[in-house]
Amino acid sequence: MRAPAVVVDDLRKRYGDTAAVDGVSFAVEHGEIFGILGPNGAGKTTIVESIAGLRTGDAGSIRVHGVDPWTDREALTRILGIQLQESRLQAKITVREALELWSAFYDDPLPWRDLAARVGLAGLLAARFSKLSGGQQQRLSIALALVGRPQVAILDELSTGLDPRVRQEVWQLVREVRDTGVTILLVTHSMEEAQHLCDRVAIVDGGRIRALDTPVGLIRAAGAGTTMRFTPSAPIDLQSLRELAGVSSVHADGGGRVVVQGSEDAVVLVMSSLAAQRAVPQGLHVASGSLDSAYLDLTAAETAAETAEEHR
Ligand code: ADP
Repeated sequence: MRAPAVVVDDLRKRYGDTAAVDGVSFAVEHGEIFGILGPNGAGKTTIVESIAGLRTGDAGSIRVHGVDPWTDREALTRILGIQLQESRLQAKITVREALELWSAFYDDPLPWRDLAARVGLAGLLAARFSKLSGGQQQRLSIALALVGRPQVAILDELSTGLDPRVRQEVWQLVREVRDTGVTILLVTHSMEEAQHLCDRVAIVDGGRIRALDTPVGLIRAAGAGTTMRFTPSAPIDLQSLRELAGVSSVHADGGGRVVVQGSEDAVVLVMSSLAAQRAVPQGLHVASGSLDSAYLDLTAAETAAETAEEHR
């Protein structure tokens, strides 16, 4: 069996009294879009920069396609591309100059004109970095991460500051890159980005992984299921709704509205039970659980558990 593309085993890194990374292990499969999601200061940058060989852990080990990034940087550059933070590019450099310069770092770079066309920058080769829009700058930084034909690409805070349409374009580009076989590690603090783009997500907080699953799995595990709200057109038996498979709670709010929580499958059962009771769900509103609520539940639960431990 083929080993995973990236293996992180019990990574630890301290800065003085701060445990930036406190025993993190995970493996990323080939061709996966793997999200590392967490609040500021969670340890995300320390983890990915350790994978990229830009930082060395105090303990643990990392392998990227079998290569140790802490001891074999040269082999690593042939495998891994990392998106530079935009502030690290000079304002006056043109798109063409940046692509040419980055190409020169590699033995067998992608033809940079083709790459520029693929990320939609073919018409902007003479434009200076500072004159590009946020989306164009982001696409250039993705192109620079890809120019060395990496098998693993690390992309950081992809959609920060982008308007929704441009963000969709950047996400589409990332999917296309993955479809060419590149494994992608995506650092983000956007729940929406993780939910839309990632095959699996590690939620990191306080230097540890709090949960690791598919976006759907995380939502399910956090119990952040579907919520239905409606006003029945005729009196109904709330207890009969509570007994339906997949329904976790039913309550009436003061204004005659009923709130039902449960799994997605429960929606159909609630509907048919209402029909049998000859009641129409007026003003029906159905909201499915999001990674957002799952994330908040998970991190809140962790914080509560830690606080309880501290008080013991
Ligand atoms: P994130 O990327 O999730 O915001 P980081 O990995 O940057 O988190 O930081 C994790 C923790 O480690 C934070 O408390 C941060 O202040 C600390 N830290 C990170 N890098 C350094 C450093 N070079 N020197 C001192 N502390 C650092």
